[in-house]
Amino acid sequence: MSKRRPLILGNWKMNTLPEEGRLVARQMVPMIRDGLHWDLDWGLAVPFTHLGALRSELEGSGMMGAQDCSAHLQGAYTGEISAGSLAAMHCSFALVGHSERRLHHHESSSTCGLKIDRLREHGLMSVYCVGETLEQRQGGSFNEVITSQLMEALGSRIQDLNHGSLAIAYEPVWAIGTGLTASPQQANEVHAMIRAWVAQNGGANMAEQIRILYGGSVNASNAKELLACTDVDGALVGGASLKARDFADIVLSSVD
Ligand code: PEP
Repeated sequence: MSKRRPLILGNWKMNTLPEEGRLVARQMVPMIRDGLHWDLDWGLAVPFTHLGALRSELEGSGMMGAQDCSAHLQGAYTGEISAGSLAAMHCSFALVGHSERRLHHHESSSTCGLKIDRLREHGLMSVYCVGETLEQRQGGSFNEVITSQLMEALGSRIQDLNHGSLAIAYEPVWAIGTGLTASPQQANEVHAMIRAWVAQNGGANMAEQIRILYGGSVNASNAKELLACTDVDGALVGGASLKARDFADIVLSSVD
């Protein structure tokens, strides 16, 4: 079990209409609140369109977050959403560099670094996602792939960040939405490697405190075992976070 305060986040992706999302959150919040006897942080990364509807549902219980933000401050960037707007909508975090954005929107790690800058300027925590494809895992290059994702986005700025402005999510691409999960050993090994990178580049203190989340087909049955690993400080949960009972069980399993 990690010694850091657990952080369990859901990623709703492009699912639910705003009103449906509000109903899911309305069911989920009391399930988590009534079962919690321990301090932890939890939250939901929801579509931009849901931020207005979910604020009052999550207030005082879970953190509300976005799934992306613009690398730019403001200006002629049609369709983009600024970190300033996310702050104005009371978001407290945003995902950065999710593999679906890297794949479908050709987002590079260096662009992710700019997004992390914008979020930090507005007081939001970045949850920076890294992870290898199946080919990279099978070819044995996953450590280099993840190290370069860390270096390109965080190398020049990790000294300006702290555990409140940055969390890292290890999400093996082959485990996202596939029903395949990294074994606890595989996850812990990569988490320890990420923490060693943080120690080397951001100092021992930052490495001690930063929360590193595992993501990839986490569900109510496998969460406990993954969250029991010493370097796994929480989870980023996709599909299972859309079901109130399942997500509440995952959140609660991080502390029982
Ligand atoms: C994700 O979207 O970040 C994710 C891990 O999805 P899933 O839990 O559905 O694999």
